[in-house]
Amino acid sequence: MISKLPEVGTTIFTVMSRRARELGALNLGQGFPDYDIDPQITELVTAAMASGHNQYAPMEGLAALRERIALKLRASYAIDIDPDTEITVTLGATEAIYSAIQAVIAPGDEAIAFDPAYDSYEPAVRLAGGRCVRVPLSQPGFGYDWDRVRAALTERTRLVLFNSPHNPACTVASGADLDGLAQLIAARDILVLSDEVYEHVVFDGARHHSVLTHPLLAARSFAVFSFGKTLHATGLRVGYCVAPPALTRELRKVHQFNTFSISHPLQHAIAAYLAAEPDCGAALAGFFQAKRDRLRDALAGCGFVLPAAQGTYFQLLDYGELLRDGDLAFAERLITEARVASIPLSPFYAQPPRLSFVRLCIAKRDSTLEQAAARLKEFAQRLGRAGA
Ligand code: GLN
Repeated sequence: MISKLPEVGTTIFTVMSRRARELGALNLGQGFPDYDIDPQITELVTAAMASGHNQYAPMEGLAALRERIALKLRASYAIDIDPDTEITVTLGATEAIYSAIQAVIAPGDEAIAFDPAYDSYEPAVRLAGGRCVRVPLSQPGFGYDWDRVRAALTERTRLVLFNSPHNPACTVASGADLDGLAQLIAARDILVLSDEVYEHVVFDGARHHSVLTHPLLAARSFAVFSFGKTLHATGLRVGYCVAPPALTRELRKVHQFNTFSISHPLQHAIAAYLAAEPDCGAALAGFFQAKRDRLRDALAGCGFVLPAAQGTYFQLLDYGELLRDGDLAFAERLITEARVASIPLSPFYAQPPRLSFVRLCIAKRDSTLEQAAARLKEFAQRLGRAGA
């Protein structure tokens, strides 16, 4: 059988969610909330359908939604984005990433991704006929080593896949990181795809540095955002891509043949929601920081180490003090013995180093987090006794 992605299997997210269902485990693997969404959203979707918005939406996205997105971007980053020529509504961030990559990567082109890299980047590059060059973030702390990135650039480098707040490393890029990236590409013909879906989830008083606020990067970037994350509703599958007009034109050429247009009633509902709740993103940092701290406090001193996430709705757990196993083996023990599903980091690497981390999703009810913490603590004690 011909396969264009011979060694790609089912994603670790889908695998872990399936296993969690089968085993009745608490699912702190795949990133999605287990609490209710704002009932206003449900009412607005119902109202949009009742009003008859049930046929194709415009290819580029509903004008009313794109205008609301432009206002949201102005409120967040003090920038002026043209909703007609610079914003495209997409089927979640995943479609924005896929369509942008298809739009600019030609056979033989190279794209740089930073390992651990979100799992949809490389397959999209390869399906475009390109090659993904994977540059690991440095240890400890998953920082950028810009000299190393410079050494990976070639004549064929066309795109850098940037991601902050970073999934799965839970780090937040600094203004200096954006300058480092800008310096590298300034004199070269290289574009940026910036995955910023956790833009509002940055902790401890730090702030998100969007490429859209950096003049050189903004002129070269597709910036990708997600209502699934901002509205705590990953099943909506509505995201958007912000890019200068010339890049947006290329993106839409792919988007129109990929998904064509996005759910019309959902776009009406989200536009109306943003009108009613223009500051809906502002509460996310505090909300998730409290959940991060709840989990970290509950596990303090148990032997698992939880290095404070800087952003995203995930938290890494380091089991290295208790066990020498690889992360795939540890995640398997965690789900079968402790009944907690997690996401190991190896699948996000081209060449997995020996790291002792798994990723936990904190977008859960406090009661789910408490229950997970109790199971993790008990498992840590068991491992501690076995090792002693
Ligand atoms: N973004 C989600 C995560 O990081 C996964 C979404 C998916 O399963 N494709 O957990």
